[in-house]
Amino acid sequence: MGITNGGCLCGAVRYTVNTKPLVTRACWCNLCQSLASGNATINLAFPTSALRITGDLSDYVSIAEGGNKMHRRFCPSCGVHLFSEAEEKPHMIVVRAGTLDDKEQIDVGGIIWTSEAPSWAYLDPSVPHFDKQPPTPQLNNDEC
Ligand SMILES: [Zn+2]
Ligand SMILES: [Zn+2]
Repeated sequence: MGITNGGCLCGAVRYTVNTKPLVTRACWCNLCQSLASGNATINLAFPTSALRITGDLSDYVSIAEGGNKMHRRFCPSCGVHLFSEAEEKPHMIVVRAGTLDDKEQIDVGGIIWTSEAPSWAYLDPSVPHFDKQPPTPQLNNDEC
């Protein structure tokens, strides 16, 4: 995975990222289930400096369970969520995998917030599971 391109449903927002993700994970927290229409979100964390974005974004601000102030950015025209950032961690940005042009290229390395997944959720047993927020502090779930 080198150069990655993606965008929203209507095409008003486009992005390019020129590096591999730091981590790619599925998140089953309740908020992500709302964003992902009843499933987990699939999230790629990148250094913020690696991302180039064109187009206007709206911003839904909320406080994460860990206390961080989250900015979840979406296209004001089609409503698709593309990015998530913690105000306390401006060096990292999360990209929603559903907005990638090529979704085949990613490799989901873990599942987080399994404690909030419904009983019918499919949780791939071949990758690590985390009940809540994984222990790695710089990659914690506040970015989901
Ligand atoms: Zn759009
Ligand atoms: Zn989540």
